[in-house]
Amino acid sequence: MSGGTGAKKSLIRDLAGVFADDAAFTRLAAERGDETAYGVDEFRPDRVVPQDLIFGTSTLNPGKIGEEFFMTRGHIHVNTDRPEIYFCQSGRGVLHMELPNGETRPAEMSPGTVVYVPPFWIHRSVNIGEEPLVTFFCYPADAGQDYDIIARAGGMRTLIVADGAGWREVDNPRYRPRSDAEQGRYLEAAR
Ligand code: ZN
Repeated sequence: MSGGTGAKKSLIRDLAGVFADDAAFTRLAAERGDETAYGVDEFRPDRVVPQDLIFGTSTLNPGKIGEEFFMTRGHIHVNTDRPEIYFCQSGRGVLHMELPNGETRPAEMSPGTVVYVPPFWIHRSVNIGEEPLVTFFCYPADAGQDYDIIARAGGMRTLIVADGAGWREVDNPRYRPRSDAEQGRYLEAAR
């Protein structure tokens, strides 16, 4: 991508607490903690107005920690009713989505796939392949990201784990369902 206004990267060791298998994470972080897990190149307008857009590309490297694949930390938008579009450019992935009530919807991505993340859905990318997963993303400029929503619940309600050459969705034993009051706050957190 040319004309970007910023780049961010997350190292493997930055992903502490994201994976179910703590021991496998600790071993990998000790050996390869300084390697990049994923990076983003993006364009942000100078001035945030709701009608504007932020867009860019995300590159998530391949790898596994225990039965899980490398994945992004994930988030819900601070203005929770803002949607997002992902377009898969290369690699194989799953865009894992969850509503605050715990309903999940994993969407498989291969080159050419477009995934629409509707308002109110928590979302994270999972690389289920052997190559970098490269996606183009675009969302309203005033969306914002709440990166703690997943950690506060003990993870997403389900895990995407390896199953032969593919993947499957299994229950996350550490998941703590959100109270009705907390779900309500997320549904109301929109301007
Ligand atoms: Zn987002």
